Amino acid sequence: MTIPSLNSPQWAPRKGKQDLFFSSLDLLVADPQRRDPLYTTVGCSNSAWLDYIHSLPTNLRSEASALRRMGQCVELIEEKGRCYYCWFHQSICVCAMIRALAGVGGTGGSPPSLQFTILMHPREFSRASNTGKILGLLFGAEVLVPWLPNTEKRLRELQNLWGAELCVMYPQAVAFEVSPLGAEEGEKGCCPIRRFSHVILIDATWNEASKLNRMISPDIPRVAISPEFMSRYTSLFAPLRDRSRESGVSTAEAAALLLRQPACVEAVMQSMRIMVDALCLEKCVRPLPYGVLSEDYIRFAHVAKLERQDIARGRLDKKSAN
Ligand SMILES: [Zn+2]
Repeated sequence: MTIPSLNSPQWAPRKGKQDLFFSSLDLLVADPQRRDPLYTTVGCSNSAWLDYIHSLPTNLRSEASALRRMGQCVELIEEKGRCYYCWFHQSICVCAMIRALAGVGGTGGSPPSLQFTILMHPREFSRASNTGKILGLLFGAEVLVPWLPNTEKRLRELQNLWGAELCVMYPQAVAFEVSPLGAEEGEKGCCPIRRFSHVILIDATWNEASKLNRMISPDIPRVAISPEFMSRYTSLFAPLRDRSRESGVSTAEAAALLLRQPACVEAVMQSMRIMVDALCLEKCVRPLPYGVLSEDYIRFAHVAKLERQDIARGRLDKKSAN
């Protein structure tokens, strides 16, 4: 199969957003390779893709699949008119609301006790219900996608930079259980999180998490929140539980449980409420479970949705007329 030539990208990186969250997403979206028609659904049919992937040596297939998945994510974001950063439709973008919580007064003006890097499975990328991005919007957490060319290098850099202060949060961890905020530090078998400054969070479903965990050096300690604590914890995702594939504690909530400043924890939890309400609004679930969205936002979202439905209906009418 011949590789089609590059389309000229209509996308240009936004200026003035300097933190690692924005720059890492800009990079993931902008990489010309992800814009190659080979890696999109429009440019390359599934059967042509299968031919191509089988023509590759086995060791290159994971990278190619991740590139294709990323290409399709970018395609979806642009086709559906979604925000590049929160992955909601632009009319109900939650970025500004969450960013507002990050300022003085929101997180108490103090930086979080821990910094985060998110290792995000390509399947999580561009999902409106993904919670890892909350840590990016609030605390500037960098997003890395496994199997992409630079990810391994970046993980090694983090290890060199943070040394013994770096850990990986992994639910099936056997190494340490950490005591979350509110629990007694130093409980039997618990390792106080104070010894770490930077946490790599695995942002993937339960089944995918173990694969991602194997990509990270075994020398970096793994931490998990004690199962007893988790069994008493109710996720803010609970109202969506029957309607989505979310289960257990979300990435953002797990991270919040490691933070020491109550204001930072509350900023994460409030962002979760905003996100869950916005998801319910999209799915027309009433009443909204947390009631944190303004009337203006709800009204605007409603009008935008009707417009989108009208446009879609117009397209359908045109199709049936032809
Ligand atoms: Zn947004």
